[in-house]
Amino acid sequence: TAAAIEEPIKPAVQVEYTQLLIDGKFVDAASGKTFPTLDPRTGEVIAHVAEGHSEDVDRAVAAARKAFDHGPWPKMTAYERQKILLRAADLIEKHNDEIAALETWDNGKPYEQSAKIEIPMLVRLIRYYAGWADKIHGLTVPADGPYHVQTLHEPIGVAGQIIPWNFPLLMFAWKVGPALACGNTIVLKTAEQTPLSALYAAKLFLEAGLPPGVLNVVSGFGPTAGAALASHMEVDKLAFTGSTDTGKVVLELAAKSNLKPVTLELGGKSPFIVCEDADIDQAVELAHFALFFNQGQCCCAGSRTYVHESVYEEFVEKAKARALKRVVGDPFKGGIEQGPQIDSDQFEKILRYIRYGVESGATLETGGDRLGNKGFYIQPTVFSNVKDDMRIAKEEIFGPVQSILKFKDLGEVVQRANNTRYGLAAGVFTKNIDTANILTRALRVGTVWVNCFDTFDAAIPFGGYKMSGQGREKGEYSLKNYLQVKAVVNPLKNPAW
Ligand code: ADP
Repeated sequence: TAAAIEEPIKPAVQVEYTQLLIDGKFVDAASGKTFPTLDPRTGEVIAHVAEGHSEDVDRAVAAARKAFDHGPWPKMTAYERQKILLRAADLIEKHNDEIAALETWDNGKPYEQSAKIEIPMLVRLIRYYAGWADKIHGLTVPADGPYHVQTLHEPIGVAGQIIPWNFPLLMFAWKVGPALACGNTIVLKTAEQTPLSALYAAKLFLEAGLPPGVLNVVSGFGPTAGAALASHMEVDKLAFTGSTDTGKVVLELAAKSNLKPVTLELGGKSPFIVCEDADIDQAVELAHFALFFNQGQCCCAGSRTYVHESVYEEFVEKAKARALKRVVGDPFKGGIEQGPQIDSDQFEKILRYIRYGVESGATLETGGDRLGNKGFYIQPTVFSNVKDDMRIAKEEIFGPVQSILKFKDLGEVVQRANNTRYGLAAGVFTKNIDTANILTRALRVGTVWVNCFDTFDAAIPFGGYKMSGQGREKGEYSLKNYLQVKAVVNPLKNPAW
């Protein structure tokens, strides 16, 4: 059962950085404006944060431009860059608990997950890309003639990066890690719901020796600061994570301005397929994790749970029992599995989807309402008898609402799982290697997790098919996003030699 929501626990951290980080200094917005960032547990103000607009984005881009064109960063030896990244990772690790507390305060996710999963993953990822810094090199290319041909892999320039609120620091790391390792400079815009933790982490990069202007962080809203970054003529590359609708907007802004290349990590409606041979207890637990992790606020959430008809009834009973046992409460309390949703917009949207589910005839097994009367807590909710054409099975809910659908055979479930505009991820639960092989090849998605879910190793590429995105982040693949290839051709004077 859900724990009672009591008086919010006071976080063991102070908010130190609320200004924009431009050219190595914390500064106010040019307009002097600020906006409040709210505690999702209560809806109360945590801090007022400088609100960047286009003139601030201009200042930040000018600093990044200068740091790229004239600064030491892209010209430093790769080994020097590597050492700075490694020092930054060490500092973040040292401040793990404060950063985790800020993350939980601003976002609402369980502190234990911030402290034991998200910050360690950030550290691991920065070390991973530090490792790449001195291993990036081009090729010697054989040509049809007396030429010496080689390729240089050069940093692309100023990277504009726009990130969401669901994993503020992990998204920060996925963006800055590869960009810095390759020698680029950055203007990063955080999500307006969660500006705090990235400012803290960026400050530690400066402390680690990152030259001023290499990493600039602008807090602010999408249509103002975000759009200014996406359409900036001096930004050489754009990386965006957020909703599919906003992805279309930024791609258009990039095309209309200077045709900067864009990578996009967008929405999803990922199937989690439980086959007839599956161990049901394990499948229930993993399907529960696949959907409810991070308050259901994952782009890759397993939000269409397809269960074989032979085990469907048993699965639904057990999935309901598991959701009823989910511990919801103040994310600073030990043992909490689920905190509040991020804000009132998302909270209202999720409750609206729960109503659509009921109205369209799905069976509400458990949950279905808010929890308590303060903040943005929602009961873990499970629907059975969900049909493919219901809105809850087609659209991204981004909340703790599990939809369980029934299937008969593999061909059918492949067709249904692929019948979506999204293609981010899928889960496959089976003991049969042939079934696993068929599904992994037939599903049109960027990641298939077989008998696991949400395994986010730094080395494993992540990204979407179809309208779930363009390009891949993490792993070696992400380096490509931040490098230009220059072919250098010169004639050989004496080909006989
Ligand atoms: P969500 O609906 O989950 O908040 P969004 O895609 O709107 O997802 O937000 C992801 C990021 O994109 C945030 O940093 C947000 O400020 C930014 N953003 C929103 N609208 C725009 C826009 N028109 N141009 C650029 N960035 C935007």
